[in-house]
Amino acid sequence: MIIRIDDIPEEGLNLDLREKERILSDLPSPMSLPPGVAIDPGVKGRLRLFIDKEDIFLLGRVQALLHLQCSRCLEDFSLEKEMDLNVLLRRGSLASTLKDPEGDAAEGETVFIEGDEICVGEILAQEILLELPMKPLCHDECPGLCPECGAPAGSSECACPREERADPRWNALVELKKKLAK
Ligand SMILES: [Zn+2]
Ligand SMILES: [Zn+2]
Repeated sequence: MIIRIDDIPEEGLNLDLREKERILSDLPSPMSLPPGVAIDPGVKGRLRLFIDKEDIFLLGRVQALLHLQCSRCLEDFSLEKEMDLNVLLRRGSLASTLKDPEGDAAEGETVFIEGDEICVGEILAQEILLELPMKPLCHDECPGLCPECGAPAGSSECACPREERADPRWNALVELKKKLAK
């Protein structure tokens, strides 16, 4: 989705993103994603573009479907991520903006754009990348892999008895506790 800056009316421009538009499907440069990560190209949500003097704002809320790999059990899983967007689009290069004393007064992200067009998909892709979890978990309580057999712990593939596998380093403490209890 390419928007010409000149086409943004004074009252702003509302954008309705639909899943079937697959806004991330043809970006000018492909996203560089960490291994095991994919982002569904069908991002949905509502965005608003408006111009305030020299600045252009992209605000709204989107939902992206992320395909991740659990950092504990290495299973693939999907995660729907809902995120607020608050992006300031600056025309010109980074260098010229850094000289601007008011350059970092704005809240939210600042994205630099060149030319007179805005590629909404590209900005979305950048923002979603920032939201990727560092250590994705298929769920908070993911037990990870069984240290004995390497299968996901507690899964049907793992038949290892769990109770008796207590860390032997704790034995001395358990003994001491028994003594103290007497
Ligand atoms: Zn997991
Ligand atoms: Zn096991």
